[in-house]
Amino acid sequence: MANIELLDEHLINQIKAGEVVESPHSMIKEIIENSIDANSTSIKVHIKNNGLDLVEIKDNGDGISFDQLPLAFSRHATSKIKSFGDIYNVYSYGFRGEALASISSVSKVLCISKSIDSTIAGKIEIHGGETLLQEPIKQSMDGTVISITDLFYNTPARLKFLKSSRSLRNNINQVIYGFVLTQPNISFHIQFDDEPPIIFEKVTNQKNDSISKRAKQVITHLRSQNIKRKLIQNKFHHESHNFNIYISPESNRGGLRHQYIFVNNRLVEDKKIKAIIQRKMTKQFWPIGNSGDYFLFLNIPSELIDPNVHPSKIIVKFIFPEIVESGIAHIIDKLPVTKAPTPKRDLEAPPQRNDILEEHSKSSFKAKSTPGPTSLNFETQRNIEKTSNRFFIANFSEREINIIHKGLLFKNFLINSMRRYDGETLPLIVALKLNISVDQSFAKSLQRFGFEIEPDQNQDFFLLKEIPMYLCQLEDLSIIVDLLEDFYNHKKTHENYQNYLLHMPVNKFAPKDKVVENIIEDNTDNLDHNFFTRTLNQESVDKLFNDSI
Ligand code: ADP
Ligand code: MG
Repeated sequence: MANIELLDEHLINQIKAGEVVESPHSMIKEIIENSIDANSTSIKVHIKNNGLDLVEIKDNGDGISFDQLPLAFSRHATSKIKSFGDIYNVYSYGFRGEALASISSVSKVLCISKSIDSTIAGKIEIHGGETLLQEPIKQSMDGTVISITDLFYNTPARLKFLKSSRSLRNNINQVIYGFVLTQPNISFHIQFDDEPPIIFEKVTNQKNDSISKRAKQVITHLRSQNIKRKLIQNKFHHESHNFNIYISPESNRGGLRHQYIFVNNRLVEDKKIKAIIQRKMTKQFWPIGNSGDYFLFLNIPSELIDPNVHPSKIIVKFIFPEIVESGIAHIIDKLPVTKAPTPKRDLEAPPQRNDILEEHSKSSFKAKSTPGPTSLNFETQRNIEKTSNRFFIANFSEREINIIHKGLLFKNFLINSMRRYDGETLPLIVALKLNISVDQSFAKSLQRFGFEIEPDQNQDFFLLKEIPMYLCQLEDLSIIVDLLEDFYNHKKTHENYQNYLLHMPVNKFAPKDKVVENIIEDNTDNLDHNFFTRTLNQESVDKLFNDSI
């Protein structure tokens, strides 16, 4: 048996780095948080190649004194907690004292800082956790500059796990604009590669509306950036909960979007709120599959929320989620703008798929002999699902039902993702068994589509070892195993995997609801909704019921 040994500090830092710096945006978040904690009023950010080549952040904050510099980069070193009780009382952003240690273990860091309390500045250079240089230098300006180059250079496996450059940029934008929007008293200077810098001047405002002033600065900037979507505002106050939203009635199917949710001026991640906004807007303004921009600010007394600080994102639990949810629904319902008429094609299925859907829905409703239109509720939703594994009810309201054809959705997802496949793969931690006999030419044919399959030790069957990255969003890969086995059985009739997918009958696979949900959630931009969703309005649902009684 192998000896049990303590991990060495550097290795711990590298492992921990996975939590803190899962991607460039989480690292940028940590560094900017430190600058804010240090009372900076100006933060300059320069990012090259989406943070992989360079992240440089310069602030004019309190600084770190020369003798403290190495401490700042060691684990659990923080100036923010002195006792256990402090953990519950930290108003600052970061308090785990591990960001800088983690970052410097997976990149090359140069930090120059001058503390307001000292006359000399210090410089430290750390590569992959190893301090190469530490020296005092002359500098009169207070503040800190941290330059991080070659992120993940010594952990190539992690580099491989990174998403496509478009989503890296989107995530970075999300983080930076999150701070820009909630820190109006700080001026931000943001530069990507050699693009002209984007500058947000500090909002000097005596009144309490500096956040909305900053939101206007951001919105003006976004408009000048060819983002023509107009943002309209609505406010609401209920039971000590304050809601303030800026949202665009216009939308698009893909591309760069700005969608931010703030709770007490902290950017939070909340899938449920996102889904409510998406659903509400889809019904009133955005065509199915499209999305727009929004900035939602919630202000809630701190005793009514429970912030659960995850290493890289902020998830908030609301004590009264129903107030939050109904408040958001309310501000969208009451947006001060005329609603776009619902396009006719959303209400009526076009001929080619209409037959299957009507046929099917009728028989599903009939099967359960549901009482009548007045009892249209979630019960009904389950009834349909129970009698069908071909359809999925994605959106349910008093007024309409969205029915998704699972097989079409799955096929559409596979083909679209394959077309956009950029070579990014995900090695599986546990290889999956494929019930197909060993056939090297088959294995080879799958390689260019991102699948790595290898024979097991006895050469009896194949093991699926690596998949194209886009498939990881499915979470449950059993359907991919079925798919590859089926492709193998039909390989004679198809030139390659792509050709197999194109000719795959849409009813061949019925993905589990969880898989369908994951596909819908992650692909609103890329899926062709006209192909696989139908919205039935209340009238047609009533008709179905009446016909079936
Ligand atoms: P934490 O922020 O959780 O304390 P970090 O690893 O992020 O841990 O930073 C360690 C320490 O380094 C901080 O507590 C702070 O004292 C100091 N520090 C980091 N960045 C800055 C900065 N930009 N200005 C001043 N001090 C900083
Ligand atoms: Mg920190």
